[in-house]
Amino acid sequence: MDDSDLAKFIRTDIAKMASYAPAPYLPDLEEKYACQKDEILKLDQGENIYGPVPGLGEALSRNGNNFNLYPDPEYKRLRSAIGKYVGVDREYVMVGSGSDELLDLILRLILGEGDEVVYCPPTYGMGAMLIGLNKGRIIAAPRNDDFSLNVRSLKDHISGRTKAILICSPNNPTGKTAAREEIEAVLSIGKLVIIDEAYFEFCDKTSIALLHKHKNLIILRTFSKWAGLAGLRLGYAVMDPYFIDEIFKIKLPFNVNAAAEIGGLVALDNLAFAKAAVQKITSERERIYGIVNDVPGFTAYPSEANFLFIRTEHDLSALKSHLENNRIFPRYYEEQNAIRLTIGKPDQNNKVIACLRSLKRPGGSR
Ligand code: PMP
Repeated sequence: MDDSDLAKFIRTDIAKMASYAPAPYLPDLEEKYACQKDEILKLDQGENIYGPVPGLGEALSRNGNNFNLYPDPEYKRLRSAIGKYVGVDREYVMVGSGSDELLDLILRLILGEGDEVVYCPPTYGMGAMLIGLNKGRIIAAPRNDDFSLNVRSLKDHISGRTKAILICSPNNPTGKTAAREEIEAVLSIGKLVIIDEAYFEFCDKTSIALLHKHKNLIILRTFSKWAGLAGLRLGYAVMDPYFIDEIFKIKLPFNVNAAAEIGGLVALDNLAFAKAAVQKITSERERIYGIVNDVPGFTAYPSEANFLFIRTEHDLSALKSHLENNRIFPRYYEEQNAIRLTIGKPDQNNKVIACLRSLKRPGGSR
């Protein structure tokens, strides 16, 4: 059998799908450039440069003897601890192997073939991919030029087939949060509204308070960014207990592994460490925002996340090779001729700025 025979076994829409292009893997970059990991500035995935809470390794080895046992299928301790952090009862919290898994589960729960989900690009690409994968139709209601939501256009895109509206706030990759009035206007449409607050801790703006008034609201959060646990894979959704019970019907019983469960509990028990890291990142974000806007050929957008979205007048591939030569790896956005730069430590950020400054303009001047 050759590949064309094997393709017949695959769901036709998946066979036609493009693969998701993840950022490069750090050890691959070390190998490619024959250098050590601390010589590489990997600023392309919003990872927390300050790492996880220091007690994590010790907690994992202390509990390691229990890794032969399955975790609690209801994750009662973890959901209670998250509930306390968020300010809701455990019954409102569902945990997942990263918040991406929860988005997948929610879409699987609500979408039938051809049902529509409205989303607001430019935004996080995984939403569109998961809508398609769950047989939904992706309806784009593009953001305004300053990346705020265009609520009027969003309303115009609602149809009888609309099942949900997906909003990322703060938005990845642009860093813009949605205003409270905008979110209330979207909730009043009466469809399910899923708000991805992956970067909440970097702005402190949340729609959690709207949950009790609006049962059609679902909020997604993650431990990948503020808590530095991207590698353990832990996310959560906050939603009406009715939806939680429905998700319990379809999720795999042990979707969060025991190590991630411990990681979440340790992070929540030592909030001071992550809060200090978040504080350093947000103050660096503001410092770098000011400096980038003084570098000719670059425009940074105000951001409430742990990254900056920076448009450039330079040719993107020239910028890319210049940054790569200096072992700097942001995420690239060709459509906007822009990069998304995760905020690092001050000396790392200074290196990036120096590198942007040293880029020659196509005409030759700097
Ligand atoms: N939502 C947004 C907006 C993100 O940027 C990311 C990570 N890139 C995620 C969700 C995924 O989070 P997790 O690691 O919890 O799956």
